[in-house]
Amino acid sequence: ERQRLNRLIHTAALTLDGHKVELLANIEMPEDTVGAVKVGAAGVGLFRSEFLFMGRTGRLPDEQEQYLAYRKAVEGMNGLPVTIRTVDIGSDKPLDRLVGKTQDGQLNPALGLRAIRWSLADPPMFLTQLRAILRAAAHGPVNLLVPMLAHGSEIRQTLSLLDFARATLDNKGIAYGPVQLGAMIEIPAAALTLKLFLKYFDFLSIGTNDLIQYTLAIDRADEAVAHLYDPCHPAVLRLIADTIAECNAQGKGVSVCGEMAGDVTMTRLLLGLGLRSFSMHPSQILAVKQQVLRADAGKLTPWAAQVLASEEPAALL
Ligand code: PEP
Ligand code: MG
Repeated sequence: ERQRLNRLIHTAALTLDGHKVELLANIEMPEDTVGAVKVGAAGVGLFRSEFLFMGRTGRLPDEQEQYLAYRKAVEGMNGLPVTIRTVDIGSDKPLDRLVGKTQDGQLNPALGLRAIRWSLADPPMFLTQLRAILRAAAHGPVNLLVPMLAHGSEIRQTLSLLDFARATLDNKGIAYGPVQLGAMIEIPAAALTLKLFLKYFDFLSIGTNDLIQYTLAIDRADEAVAHLYDPCHPAVLRLIADTIAECNAQGKGVSVCGEMAGDVTMTRLLLGLGLRSFSMHPSQILAVKQQVLRADAGKLTPWAAQVLASEEPAALL
């Protein structure tokens, strides 16, 4: 089966009725671009930059170290776009305690100081990362993606820090490039205030792992409730469907970068909901491409509406 899939590496990801679908890679380290290129990824849809910060016992990576890492990822993709997400530290991705920031004492880390909240709590640290990403963008197309936003004030703070980072680089005469700006939709509050997000961002990326966790109040790391972690819960599907539809209506890019994007049993439904950009672990790209090649998007649209209206959507897949 793997060999059969390997024949699809150079096949364009088109549905039977000719819709172009973008299949992107999720990576954790710059070296992972090698595997992404090997399977024919159209770019990196999610570079989880927190992996540069985790598993260290000393200081956090400084601007130069981050810049070199992001640049390596950009160059590794040979001109294809790379979406770099600012750190999503916290919850299931803790820092090593010796670095000085720890989650000790946090009652509910998944609901606590995590991702953009953690970044905004330490502006010098966040600015260091923003400058590094902007500098890497001088070497190829870069999208900057912000995790876990829920509030307008967080969006505005993030944008003003980004302006500040650019101004600092201008003042120092350091080269940097343009970035497309994206927000993760992974908190229900964000999916319910899409207008706000579309006002400020060029594209949205749906983080289904957390969107499921927060919509259903199921800790994604807790085995005791894992059986209730349901990607097909009608409420979850509704939030995903609305986000895709709103972006498509406004001509804004929208992608899914959670596990759902790499789950071949979900490909048809996501296509039916109008999704044309999927980001996943590189090992899933060819299997999802096979699903795309067999799909008729036009026929999937009315079927997806039925699934969405169903009491037990999973039974229809
Ligand atoms: C998600 O939440 O779906 C996502 C892609 O981000 P992470 O899994 O890194 O939290
Ligand atoms: Mg997430």
